[in-house]
Amino acid sequence: MIPGANEYGVEITIDERAVEELRAVSPTDVDAPSALTFARNVFVPLTTACRYTCTYCTYFDPPGQASLLSLEDVREICRRGADAGCTEALFTFGDDPDDRYTEIHAQLDAWGYDSIHDYLRAACEVALEEGLLPHANPGDQTRTQMETVADVNASMGVMLETTADVDAHAGPRRKEPGQRLRTIKNAGELDVAFTTGILVGIGETWRDRAESLLAIRELHGRYDHIQEVIVQPVVNNERWAGGSPDLATMRRVTAMARAALPDEISIQVPPNLAPAKDLIDCGVDDLGGVSPVTDDHINPEYAWPALRELEEIAAYADVPLGERLPVYERFLPADMRLDRFDGTVAEGADGDRDWLSPTVRDALAADDPAGERYRAVLRDRTTTLAD
Ligand code: SF4
Repeated sequence: MIPGANEYGVEITIDERAVEELRAVSPTDVDAPSALTFARNVFVPLTTACRYTCTYCTYFDPPGQASLLSLEDVREICRRGADAGCTEALFTFGDDPDDRYTEIHAQLDAWGYDSIHDYLRAACEVALEEGLLPHANPGDQTRTQMETVADVNASMGVMLETTADVDAHAGPRRKEPGQRLRTIKNAGELDVAFTTGILVGIGETWRDRAESLLAIRELHGRYDHIQEVIVQPVVNNERWAGGSPDLATMRRVTAMARAALPDEISIQVPPNLAPAKDLIDCGVDDLGGVSPVTDDHINPEYAWPALRELEEIAAYADVPLGERLPVYERFLPADMRLDRFDGTVAEGADGDRDWLSPTVRDALAADDPAGERYRAVLRDRTTTLAD
């Protein structure tokens, strides 16, 4: 039983033998991918307020210093992104701002919003109007919070990070794995295509890494809703001097992720934080989002590599590189799941469920420049990258 999960209504029992089997996995036990994918996105840091104070995180600002983008700011960022050929508005957040953030709550109130989720909904609608598909990461979410925004997102996400209770999550408002698992469960219950991942090097053990991956597998087994799992190393920054996991650790944990998770879940490493070239053969098949117009606001000290660098990684791995949308192909309606690199049609996720809301489906089918941009990504599986 994962500590704290029950408290949030998530029952997951981890099989000890599966943990031991996963711990024994090495890079030679998994296959290299046959292709790599990436998405073109813009970062939209809707707010830098966060109720938590994770010791490795430079994203959050304390009360009095945290920012909240206006909808005009959101529109401007999204417009630049759409003009540059992006398809995704990646809404980054801290976790639900608590009562200490009086200015944030006063501003939301002045703008006529009851909560950050109500405001996120409006921001996602702006992104859709400007021709981008929203993918929001608003931290832990109750079912009601997620329901508020699910239909205006093509997909959503939260990093599980770890099922362990680590000191890096310490503080008066301790981040709990049970809440993250509940968020992943909520997404499954609400038919939301979902991204999650593990953070490596924050004090977790090898057993914790195995358990975290198995917990994700278990929830995906129930709902079929996980689209990708990010394997992300912690990195030094102004708040964290604990260093990063070494290459051998990253290779082993990436292989563990590939071995633990079914093929339909992509394994992603962020090339601005991890030595991607040296991890591809451990089962990585996605390089995440690249942004031609905004900084990586989560890790601003680590610039995103140019799109050409992704080409170089793919060339090094000797596999084709293709663009994807923020929602993976298998969650699209059957008539949109076109040929992949190998000429087959992607198998869909659970066909009895509507993974896309009518709003997102209409955006994909729209007879406008944005709809054409989305469909071009689906058509062109071996896209050439922009200069
Ligand atoms: S990692 Fe996420 S939850 Fe933790 S302090 Fe940073 S923004 Fe908040």
